[in-house]
Amino acid sequence: MKIIDRIQSGLTLSFEVFPPKSDKPLEPLLDTLEQLYTLRPDFISCTYGAMGSNKGRNLEVVASIQSSGKCEALSHYTCGGNSRQDGLDALADYQSVGVENLLALRGDFPAGVTHTNGDFLHANELIAFIRSQTNAFSLAAACYPEKHLLAESMDADIDALLKKQDAGADFLMTQLCYSVENYLRFLDRARKRGVKLPIVAGVLPLIKKDGLVRMTLSNGCSIPAEVSALVGRYGESEESFREAGHAFTVSLVRRLIKEGANGIHLYTLNRFEDVADLVYDTGIREKPQTNR
Ligand code: FAD
Repeated sequence: MKIIDRIQSGLTLSFEVFPPKSDKPLEPLLDTLEQLYTLRPDFISCTYGAMGSNKGRNLEVVASIQSSGKCEALSHYTCGGNSRQDGLDALADYQSVGVENLLALRGDFPAGVTHTNGDFLHANELIAFIRSQTNAFSLAAACYPEKHLLAESMDADIDALLKKQDAGADFLMTQLCYSVENYLRFLDRARKRGVKLPIVAGVLPLIKKDGLVRMTLSNGCSIPAEVSALVGRYGESEESFREAGHAFTVSLVRRLIKEGANGIHLYTLNRFEDVADLVYDTGIREKPQTNR
């Protein structure tokens, strides 16, 4: 099933996992996926290595998700290092395992790299290429509530978003954003400029102080005062920070839903426990009753 059809019928819940490297076993992730399925996600996405060469076991992971019959698989696919022929081969591979949903990205540049070293320079070119070849896929694209770290301005980044929309993207998935105010400002500006696509909000659960600092800084995202206060107050105790971060994330997800997000996409980082509590405490899914 195409994810855009699910989005059009109501709020979606989804998770993101990353594949093990090619020489590492798949089983630990398969175990986590089994646990994640119990939360009844609409889809689970699997990342794709930055420059294509380190895509790891991406295809096996999405094949496994799709064949589980528990939810849709969404594969990330990047311009990085990929030629047109690589793109055609990848589309054939994804179709051969029943995957109907792709997130088309430029891809992160590793340190020192300034070019995709492939046939596509930007995500809109990749989206247009896929659309010119087949209608077999629902296509997602990335968006940045606090603008992409390389974009000169929010307006320049929204220009890029309009190009992805014109190229044929079906929906957008956001970068993490801990500031609902910045998210709403972006939403208002993007809608006024003509971005009409549904938006699935990406949420990185606040679990560890180090993870928060690393992910926000490397992605050019802000740390709102409310979150800095949590670091100041609870940063010395892992357990207290986790509890306070959980409460913050529950409230963030509830606000994003209230403000009309079309879906909540949790960056689960191949974990289950904290994610399950979050899903139940936000009310997106009801906790199953246990038999005594
Ligand atoms: P683009 O849309 O190409 O944008 C990149 C920059 O160029 C922006 O500054 C934009 O404003 C500008 N721009 C865009 N189009 C044009 C144009 N036509 N002309 C001029 N300028 C333009 N990375 C990975 O490597 N693997 C993953 O699996 C992965 N998953 C992700 C999932 C999500 C939900 C998100 C939000 C990001 C993910 N990333 C992933 C990171 C992403 O690849 C990087 O943020 C990358 O730097 C930009 O990707 P993009 O598709 O937004 O690129």
